[in-house]
Amino acid sequence: MSKYWSRIAQSMEPYIPGEQPKDKKYIKLNTNENPYPPSPKVLESLRAAADPSLRLYPDPTCDELRTQIGRFYSLRKENVFLGNGSDEVLAFCFLAFFNPEKPILFPDVTYSFYPVYAQLFKINYESVPLDDHFSLPVERFLTKNGGVIFPNPNAPTGKYLSLDHVKTILVHNPDSVVIIDEAYIDFGGASAVSLMRDFPNLLVVQTFSKSRSLAGLRIGFALGHEDLIAGLDRVKNSFNSYTLDRLALIGAREAIKDEAYFHETRNKIIQTREKVSAHLRKLGFQVVPSQANFIFATHAQVKANALFQHLRDRGVLVRYFNKPRIDNYLRITIGTDAEMAAFLQKAAEIISFLG
Ligand code: PMP
Repeated sequence: MSKYWSRIAQSMEPYIPGEQPKDKKYIKLNTNENPYPPSPKVLESLRAAADPSLRLYPDPTCDELRTQIGRFYSLRKENVFLGNGSDEVLAFCFLAFFNPEKPILFPDVTYSFYPVYAQLFKINYESVPLDDHFSLPVERFLTKNGGVIFPNPNAPTGKYLSLDHVKTILVHNPDSVVIIDEAYIDFGGASAVSLMRDFPNLLVVQTFSKSRSLAGLRIGFALGHEDLIAGLDRVKNSFNSYTLDRLALIGAREAIKDEAYFHETRNKIIQTREKVSAHLRKLGFQVVPSQANFIFATHAQVKANALFQHLRDRGVLVRYFNKPRIDNYLRITIGTDAEMAAFLQKAAEIISFLG
């Protein structure tokens, strides 16, 4: 640890993202990126946007994009907040809505950024264990708390919580903000946005990184009551008065407009997921039913860590979490059909060799 670091920097326990190795070309199934390129219309508009206007600051309030996202969900721009990836939006949410006194609730197992933010912002939290089938124990989220956050579908399990259950959590938490992180909602689940009208304490967070194939542009957003969005603006403007850069604004605008491409690519991913899940079961894996663009699976005979290493040696990267309860599982992002065929073939070879 450097002697120049502040006490705050020393006390941080940062999140470690999935690896992006540069030593050779991998079949990359470890960070839930979309295997398909962004819409051709997005790429065309970005090429055209690389012009002298880049010397100018972007629109600080992103009115056009917020209006467009709002229209997509039948909302107004006052219900839309934008950030540099949903990770940034989530950080602002923690600061805007979670008070340090009462513990906030999130599940265990879940997205590992939540405890990182809670520690960074000195917010008390209670992580609520998932049940034996990795389902969210709804009844444990109805107790007094300082806020609630969970992904739906959950990460890294891919398990989806029905809107009826989400509604129960909202009904019993009128005094807390309930944040639903819908990074993976477009791969089969129904969004909680439809509940917004009835619940002014509901905030839905989504991203362009997954179903819209724009992880490289870093665009996330939150949808909620005007009052919640105003809270987020207040926090954001205390950090940085500009939200998205000019290219991200243009790329996102074209991505949201190209609905045909969006549907085509996410449907392909869903079909591939179902085929791969069935194939993995035949290879002896137990597969958690997924509504996301990844699969969470464990093998009865072969340890996940060994499988991870052997796949890596053969040029296939998946995600292994060295954490209690899930240390015998792998999270496998859905790639193209060709990538998944190569993955399945290598997994079968490794299993017959180690199993
Ligand atoms: N939420 C969840 C549950 C995620 O898995 C991720 C991706 N790691 C994010 C949010 C953040 O995505 P991004 O910052 O790319 O929008």
